[in-house]
Amino acid sequence: MTGELIRVLLAVRDTDALEDLRAALSGEEGFAVTETHASARAVASLDGGGHDVLIVELDLPDAAGLENLITTPTGSHSSPVLALADPTEETAALRAVRRGCADYLLKGELNPAVVTRAVRYAVEGARGTRLRRRAEQALTESEQRYRSLFEQSRDAIFMTERGGEILELNEAARDLLGSEADDLVGRDVLSIFSDAADRDRFKREIEARSHVRDFEVRVRRQDQAERWCLVSAWVRREPTGEVAGYQGILHDITERKRVEDQLAHDAFHDALTQLPNRALFMDRLERAVARRRRVDAKDVAVLFLDLDRFKVVNDSLGHMIGDELLRQIARLLQDEVREEDTVARLGGDEFAILLDGVEDAADPTHVAERIQERLRTPFRLSGHDVFTSVSIGITFGDGGMHSAEDLLRDADTAMYRAKELGPARYQIFDEAMHTHAVTLLQLETDLRLALERKEFVVHYQPVMQLASGELIGFEALVRWQHPNRGLLQPQAFLPVAEETGLIVPLGEWVLRAATRQLRIWREREASRRDLFMSVNISGRQFSHGDLVGVVRDVLEETGVPGPCLRLEITESVVMHNPTGAVRMLRQLREMGVGLCIDDFGTGYSSLSYLHDFPIDTLKIDRSFVARMTEMDDHEMIATIVALARNMGLQAVAEGVETQEQLDRLRQLGPSSVQGFLFSSPLDEAAASAFLDEGLPVAPRKPG
Ligand code: C2E
Ligand code: MG
Ligand code: MG
Repeated sequence: MTGELIRVLLAVRDTDALEDLRAALSGEEGFAVTETHASARAVASLDGGGHDVLIVELDLPDAAGLENLITTPTGSHSSPVLALADPTEETAALRAVRRGCADYLLKGELNPAVVTRAVRYAVEGARGTRLRRRAEQALTESEQRYRSLFEQSRDAIFMTERGGEILELNEAARDLLGSEADDLVGRDVLSIFSDAADRDRFKREIEARSHVRDFEVRVRRQDQAERWCLVSAWVRREPTGEVAGYQGILHDITERKRVEDQLAHDAFHDALTQLPNRALFMDRLERAVARRRRVDAKDVAVLFLDLDRFKVVNDSLGHMIGDELLRQIARLLQDEVREEDTVARLGGDEFAILLDGVEDAADPTHVAERIQERLRTPFRLSGHDVFTSVSIGITFGDGGMHSAEDLLRDADTAMYRAKELGPARYQIFDEAMHTHAVTLLQLETDLRLALERKEFVVHYQPVMQLASGELIGFEALVRWQHPNRGLLQPQAFLPVAEETGLIVPLGEWVLRAATRQLRIWREREASRRDLFMSVNISGRQFSHGDLVGVVRDVLEETGVPGPCLRLEITESVVMHNPTGAVRMLRQLREMGVGLCIDDFGTGYSSLSYLHDFPIDTLKIDRSFVARMTEMDDHEMIATIVALARNMGLQAVAEGVETQEQLDRLRQLGPSSVQGFLFSSPLDEAAASAFLDEGLPVAPRKPG
């Protein structure tokens, strides 16, 4: 304490003692002495901090006041008190010390060494107390800060004892766990995790590493509701290193989990019907196939469903009703299968069903039949009764021999076959269908190349005038000179060409080739200037591409007059595209081009369209020619011929194969005939020869 002045207040009556004290303190440096007789003042000045130490004589007249001062609880006075007592009153002095005096001095023993040491000790001791108190206060404050952090934290915090028994929970933890403050205290902290696996993992990890960080766990609240949390926890240790307990934080991620789950759900489900989507279906199918391969489990079956005429519903009643129909069908399909089966929407009007664990090979067909049976009742959609049906393809897992993708593809192939048979049918896949599908695919590829490679040729079938038996024209019929498969007839490739749209460039090519051929013949035989060329036109050429422009070009290029070209279309073409078709037919008619309805009588029953379309020829379908001799039924031909005559149209009978048919036709009177009786379709050279030979010639049968 060197350098600092110690201020001493003396409250002493005994003059000898006072003298000794003065002498002791003034003999040493560093003490400033004040004296008082009034205990009240002493108290006041001490409280005001005016002195560093007080020496009080115990038998002062108002010593009781001083005793009060001394005996007030420590902490209310910052300066220490030394009691001065008569040697005979040492007991009172000791009592004073017990009550709070820093020390005591005895009269008669007040030598400088004793006095200054006692004063210095008292001051030092008081300072120590002050420091300790300050440290204590700092600790309390810091504790309060941490406690408020603990209590105010939005994350749940828990502390446990060594054995994991909960010691304390903050408010967020009580909220999270839904408990009153003390409900959980004493319980094993592991009991808040609902999964046994989480409990094991937590315990294992914290024992092995003394901490866990961001474990995703499910926590069960007191009300049994579950929350998802991230838990981090640490071991708390005694100074000795022994485990004292754990403490940890639970961060509630339930909402994030919900969003994640929703996203995951959306990624694997169809938004419209809430059914699994293709991705989830494939995943389940793959698992089922793998299981089947691994263990001798029951077989799986896949049903591929496609609504018949869904587009009609959508186009006529609107998308809202179309959507509602899909939703109702989704529900119906789910009703018809077991819990363990999967119904998925693959897109559009396509659904798939995975039957997992087929007991009996007939089960899938029963499911298909039940579905079709239920669809016989119409759906009630916004006041409309809507009938719909599905085509279903079925395939079996065959003991896991096929991949999931193969199975779905095969079911799809079988569905197509079912569709070909008409609406509301089902088909079970067989290998032949696959071969067929593969052939089709190959065909499509080859077909695309065939045009470039100039593999198509046109054959020509003569058309004869019935009355004179004279050749009046040819019908152009396309053939495909396939590099491996030989000469292919139209039915082997035209359906695919139609489906893929290749018919548009192909049809254009035929038109050009046939018209050019006609020009060659016209130029060679001046007497055959009225020879015509009949060319078949597909419906696709009407709806796509510029048919009128192409015809105009071809006529210009070849110099063939319009009336020498005849276009054959089917009834369905004009019916499917009435307004556009009428306009195009009129434009063609203006160029003088002949227009013929092919296969007449097989399509629409309404004939009223004949008045609206600028047609000039009806080609009687060959099935009616066949009926004529096979069933002695002339009715249809007679009607068509009469109709044509009334409307000022020509009638051509096609497919005339026998003399008998020809004879009968003579009585009915179509203007011209065509058929194997005269000639099958001929290649260019043979057709040229036919033209040269003059007519009539001996009947030629197809070769
Ligand atoms: P289509 O226009 O009705 O042609 C007549 C079909 O009947 C031809 O078959 C012809 O070979 C066949 N035929 C001719 N006479 C007889 C007969 O006495 N008896 C029998 N049973 N059949 C006879 P093809 O050449 O196989 O053509 C089939 C169909 O393919 C054609 O029917 C036509 O619709 C279509 N087609 C042919 N070439 C083309 C073309 O270049 N473009 C378009 N769009 N279609 C074509
Ligand atoms: Mg034809
Ligand atoms: Mg025909």
